Amino acid sequence: MSDPVPTMRGVGTEPSGEDRDCTIMHVDMDAFYVSVELLQRPDLVGRPVIVGGLGGRSVVLSASYEARRFGVRSAMPMASARRMCPQAVVLEPHHEAYRRVSSRIMEIFGTVTPLVEQLSVDEAFLDVAGALRRLGPPRAIGEQLRATIRQELGITASVGIAATKFVAKIASTRAKPDGLLLIPRDRTVEYLHGLDVSALWGVGERTREVLARVGIRTVADLAHTPVPTLRRLLGSTGLHVHELAWGRDPRPVTPVRQEKSIGAEETFASDVDSDDVLHTELLRLAHRTATRMRSAGMQARTVSLKLRYADFSTLTRSHRLTEPVDSAQLLYETARSLLAGLGRRPMSVRLIGLRAENLEEAGGAAQQLTLDGRDDNWRSAEDALDRVNRRFGDKGVMPARLLRPARRPPAAQDG
Ligand SMILES: [Mg+2]
Repeated sequence: MSDPVPTMRGVGTEPSGEDRDCTIMHVDMDAFYVSVELLQRPDLVGRPVIVGGLGGRSVVLSASYEARRFGVRSAMPMASARRMCPQAVVLEPHHEAYRRVSSRIMEIFGTVTPLVEQLSVDEAFLDVAGALRRLGPPRAIGEQLRATIRQELGITASVGIAATKFVAKIASTRAKPDGLLLIPRDRTVEYLHGLDVSALWGVGERTREVLARVGIRTVADLAHTPVPTLRRLLGSTGLHVHELAWGRDPRPVTPVRQEKSIGAEETFASDVDSDDVLHTELLRLAHRTATRMRSAGMQARTVSLKLRYADFSTLTRSHRLTEPVDSAQLLYETARSLLAGLGRRPMSVRLIGLRAENLEEAGGAAQQLTLDGRDDNWRSAEDALDRVNRRFGDKGVMPARLLRPARRPPAAQDG
């Protein structure tokens, strides 16, 4: 995970001809889960392979193109898939591996442009307008991305390039597997109009039936249907799909901001000297932070402690962990040792805060830190807390220690 991402190189030229204004790219891995599994099972390349659970009610998560030839599709019940394609090899999913490869893919995208809108584990929109001078025209960037992903990760990606997100997404679907399709802006409408209405975002199976009943089958049919008619048939979606049918989709590529840290802090009603009170508050903050991290599916590599003294002077101390964590107990213990590391405090404390930083997606290769083997127990106890809290609201269950009053008057003794 720490190898440097190879820098993309290209011949910088101004866009011209087909590439003009086509700076939106949709990049999507082909049969992603299967492709990642086949890295460990090269003997299965070229054979029908399905990734999914083996239980009675499992569904297909991903199917190789060889299995798709038999009609196997994602989200189909595994039982049906096995009936359609009894010779398929079924592999159980390894989500950590997918996340690991996924974060690498996103890093590679990040070398092209900061404008990356991740849609799922294996696909994203990129706006490459700012990269043309450095990397060349969009088609060259797309091919370079495909080559980089293939060489570095051993899997294939398909790329759609267009003037809008919607058309770029259609293009990548049509380019699959292992292809690239660019739809020039001035050919967009012509291209769209040849497609089935179901190509439009917002036209699912049911909408398609509604439209078919009045003879609207292609995007061209829909484009030439008056908006009021579409409104009557489809409600507010009517205008939207009409716009799409004319290639109009003003939505920009919007990078999804990843939270870089999650934390909590507490200002005491009156300044505090007691270690005991500070520890209790830290434990509470650790639980609050860990619950948020777990619900965001994140783990932290760094824990930081913030103290504000009675005179408003503020200091922070942080500690980098060897393994990412999302357990309140580990956050608490780390913060508590940071507090101890400060030694004798010069005056009482007005505010205390705890923050989990250097967040990464949970479930990477990383496992919970195992200090004398008890942390797994902490973690599963906290998972149980999360479950109960989801059912009964977040006041449902707290460690016994936190059931004491939140704020206590400043203690007389010095810590
Ligand atoms: Mg995909």
